[in-house]
Amino acid sequence: MNSGRYLKCNGVVIYCRVSSQKQVREGNGLDSQEAKCRTWCRSRNLDVLKIFREEGISGGKKDRPALMDMFSFLEEVSKKNTKCIVLVEDLNRWSRETVNHFILKQAITSLGHSLQSVNMSLDDTDESEFMETVAAGISQLERKKNAKRTKTCMQEHAKMGVWLMNPPTGYKRERINGRIHCVRKEPTASYIQEALEGFANFRFHTQKDVYNYLKMKEIIGYDGKPTKVSLHFVKNMLINERYTGCFAYDRWNIPYQKWAIEEIISRKTYDKIQERLNRKKSCIQVRKYNLNDEEFPLRRWVRCNVCGTPLTASKSTSKSGKKHSYYHCHNKECPMRGKGIRQGVIHEDFEKILNAITPNPKTISLIQALIKDKEQTESENWRNIKKLKEQEIKNKKEEKEKCFELLLKNDNPEVMKMCNEKIAKLEVEIKELTREIEDNNVNTQNLREIGSKVFDFISKPLAVWNIGNHKQRQGVLKLCFSEPISYDRIKKFGTPKLSSIFSIFNNFSGKNHDWRPRRDSNSCCRRERAMS
Ligand SMILES: [Zn+2]
Repeated sequence: MNSGRYLKCNGVVIYCRVSSQKQVREGNGLDSQEAKCRTWCRSRNLDVLKIFREEGISGGKKDRPALMDMFSFLEEVSKKNTKCIVLVEDLNRWSRETVNHFILKQAITSLGHSLQSVNMSLDDTDESEFMETVAAGISQLERKKNAKRTKTCMQEHAKMGVWLMNPPTGYKRERINGRIHCVRKEPTASYIQEALEGFANFRFHTQKDVYNYLKMKEIIGYDGKPTKVSLHFVKNMLINERYTGCFAYDRWNIPYQKWAIEEIISRKTYDKIQERLNRKKSCIQVRKYNLNDEEFPLRRWVRCNVCGTPLTASKSTSKSGKKHSYYHCHNKECPMRGKGIRQGVIHEDFEKILNAITPNPKTISLIQALIKDKEQTESENWRNIKKLKEQEIKNKKEEKEKCFELLLKNDNPEVMKMCNEKIAKLEVEIKELTREIEDNNVNTQNLREIGSKVFDFISKPLAVWNIGNHKQRQGVLKLCFSEPISYDRIKKFGTPKLSSIFSIFNNFSGKNHDWRPRRDSNSCCRRERAMS
């Protein structure tokens, strides 16, 4: 074997590459490429300087991580006047793109190194250059053919309802009876479901509300990496039909069909979302002009019992010139459109609801007593812990004093160093303990304040509603209900979905079976008085 040609070089850098993660996992390729390259070096008495392994990266790309590392390495060694051979098992490991092949090769030669392949000898002769060009061209052709094969395979699967592309956020791939399915990936799937259903049923009024909700959750993609939630993400999620498990894929002319994708939302929910999005423009107008109108605090918190659209509101002038305020449904297709409900009537009925969901004083004091009891036990525990911590601080301070004394008496550098280190450590520990005590005091104080405010509100939402300004009234709505309530002009308000805190109180007092306004409620009497 002719090894004279390689005498000028100082060693070999081996570059191996496989393009799919599957090949990496199964150990295909990389090891055998490396072994062949090592044999090549041994037979020519050449040292291997370094090996670069590229895992799961296509040869059509130029910016591959290991390749970049290799170039940094080559730059380093060329500064020391070291000449290397970059060795690949086959030229298709080097590049799958003809143009890139020569660009990358040029980059190596400009650094003073050279490229070699185990399967094909590369030298400066015209014949060799011609063969190299052909090999690079074949490599590119193979890549394109592979890509086409993969696409055809994906299309064939798609026709049978198998989704081989990346699953949407909230899913993972799973093989069931030999077939690939996209199944729910919890808890992300539940968060997405809640967000989508919340938008469909007006729990979230805007896309921003959905965004705020999802932003608080940890959303994990199919690949196990956290997904960044943005408004763009929310927008795409809302129009992603894949969450229903049934859709057409126009890009490949696949008609509407059921896919092997678990349903996260129903078709009905999806349609509601699209309807909301399509009506978005008019909604924005409504928001712009009216949402902060003091006169209609229930706007968009009450919905039409026929079509489910949140009611809007306006004033109209009667023939006598008197102004009247109405809530009404603005859905063009709804039979209730244009049939206004007097503002006063809805407001009065709403007060009855607030009255009905107010926990009775007995329940409140019972829960307050329970919480107080727990608080007392906890504060007792804390007192004991605090005592221990204070004692610990005292001990550490004494220890610190002793170190100071030792430091004054001693001039041995070893001992002095030890004392100084010990003092610094003790100071950190004392600070930490003091901070723990202070933090706990502040937290307990804050919790008590928040707790008393919450109780204050829960015991009288109706009072807050009656005397509050517009912002406070919106606060009442948000704190009491988890979504808008439907309203029927005869049957009045439907069963409201209470916020979690009110649900707890109402369950506690057994009110959940009898939430409806009682005839004898105060506001009712007031209305009757007013009418008489
Ligand atoms: Zn309607």
